[in-house]
Amino acid sequence: MRILALNCGSSSIKCALIETATSRRLAEARIEQIGKSKARFHAGEKTRELGESTSFEQAATILLEEMQGAAQGLGAIQAVAHRIVHGGERFIQPTRLDKATLAELDAVSELAPLHNLPALACARAAMSFIPDIEHVAVFDTAFHATLPTRAKQYALPKDVVDRFGIRRFGFHGTSHSHVSHATAAHLLTTPQQLRIVSCHLGNGASVTAIEYGRSVETSMGMTPLEGLVMGTRPGDVDPGVLLELMRSAKMNEAQLNDLLNTRSGLKGLTGTNDMREIETRASQGDEPCRLAITLYSHRVRKYIGAYAAVMGGVDVIAFTGGIGENSALIRHRCTQRLEFLGAVLDEDRNRDAKLSSAQSVAQISDPASRARIVVVRADEELAIAREAAVLLSQRSQPDSLRIPVAVSARHAHLSQATVERLFGEGYQLQVRAPLSQTGQYAAQETVTLIGPRGKLAGVRLMGPPRGHDQIEISRTDEFVLGVDAPVRISGDLNNTPGITLEGPKGTMTIPNGLITARRHIHMSPSDAERFGVQDHDTVEVRIDSQGRDLTFGDVTVRVSPDFTLEMHLDTDEANAAGIERGDKGELEERGEVEGRITRK
Ligand code: AMP
Repeated sequence: MRILALNCGSSSIKCALIETATSRRLAEARIEQIGKSKARFHAGEKTRELGESTSFEQAATILLEEMQGAAQGLGAIQAVAHRIVHGGERFIQPTRLDKATLAELDAVSELAPLHNLPALACARAAMSFIPDIEHVAVFDTAFHATLPTRAKQYALPKDVVDRFGIRRFGFHGTSHSHVSHATAAHLLTTPQQLRIVSCHLGNGASVTAIEYGRSVETSMGMTPLEGLVMGTRPGDVDPGVLLELMRSAKMNEAQLNDLLNTRSGLKGLTGTNDMREIETRASQGDEPCRLAITLYSHRVRKYIGAYAAVMGGVDVIAFTGGIGENSALIRHRCTQRLEFLGAVLDEDRNRDAKLSSAQSVAQISDPASRARIVVVRADEELAIAREAAVLLSQRSQPDSLRIPVAVSARHAHLSQATVERLFGEGYQLQVRAPLSQTGQYAAQETVTLIGPRGKLAGVRLMGPPRGHDQIEISRTDEFVLGVDAPVRISGDLNNTPGITLEGPKGTMTIPNGLITARRHIHMSPSDAERFGVQDHDTVEVRIDSQGRDLTFGDVTVRVSPDFTLEMHLDTDEANAAGIERGDKGELEERGEVEGRITRK
């Protein structure tokens, strides 16, 4: 798809016409320093002054004219993707823009006025300039929709939080998401296999802990003010300082806003927010610039350590953004003394790292370093265009994205040795009914589970026997038995609890293997291609049932040539979504509803 990505910042608009199938940039242009006397348009070799009075709407129109001209001969622009910084509570997916959506976004904008107001002005200008194609908003906050409550919530009184919608959102989501995908591709793996600390160090800056593909902590909060030292923002400041300034300096809201958004950070410390200039002056002995570099990198290092602790370890530390990509000095200082995390920088590789469109990721860690340190070329326009393309391709083929849903009641996969302990030596399971997955069957035999609090009789065995015992129960079953069963994908049994099993010929306690099955979809490689997903991807599935529609997140995709397309839920989940049971057997009961998949 040929998508025009409009990336509107607080003082610039960058745009690129992108062929999303090949990730190729067909044309690009930008306008910088909007609203200032140095406002300037750039497109390839072309450049011209625009003057202070050029508004964001006018700047967007100039860029759209340029892009339409460039698109002639390349094929018409098929859609426009707009970067919108703040999506608030409601917008956590790319969303088609129309008048009603724009009005809802206006209401959210006071949370990030520096960015949202110009972006919405651009979106309106673009929608009237090219009205006949789809316009899609892609939100910086969306990637952080997975933040757990402990990371989202401030420790403020509940009534205040509820009344004013106070919570942490996180930003730079498109960039952090791009970092996790680009890094994983470079390491020939998937984001679901990695714990990444992603450092976006540009004029705005944030760090995100991406644990196996999901954002679980991020340094920006309700607004883009929290966290790292930035170009013109201070990042973390004791809120008491603001109270003190209100009291002693009699600062009002507008003055505090100006102080925190435009006069602090690197600029406040040194007089400039240009890290290149700060580095040059520091090398010439300028003390404020030296201090700024120390303060800046100390804060980043502090967050890297904290986020490694949040994830119980780190596999990759990634740098992106103008400073992250270009400043070997800052990367060196941010990764000093991280050997205890298994991260050792290779100074030569760090100094020589050069990114280009041909090489978008560079490894700068020592070959012996357990955790990798990488530099990733930010390509926000490509990331925005790709996210929009996913939404638009789903819309154009809704029927092909439907999947059958099956419900798994509690059941047990046992090893042959355990079968014999419970049913007698040499015992062979008897087939009761075949299951949809090739070669699998529900056995005639059942066992009783005995927990510290209660028992569950009639738990169906599955065949054929496996190498390890695995018992799958629901949350409700946990309460009956008085046990905790961690949510795991089948086969992932490390550190799981055991349970006592009772059969007709004996009782035994297995040391581990008790789980609540993670929601998952089985599919063949051709289905995976059709859905645009890969093995181990995490997706959302919307269940359209009558009266109890529900969207399930955290659904793991399992791909194998042996699999038949089917989503598996347990009984609790099925009940919550109002899925009616058929009468196809006790283990897997095919519902009459179907899910619709959304890639995350
Ligand atoms: P961004 O907002 O991602 O465009 O990043 C802007 C920041 O990157 C500014 O502070 C620039 O000074 C900084 N930057 C760009 N190139 C370099 C470089 N070669 N060395 C140090 N900082 C740089």
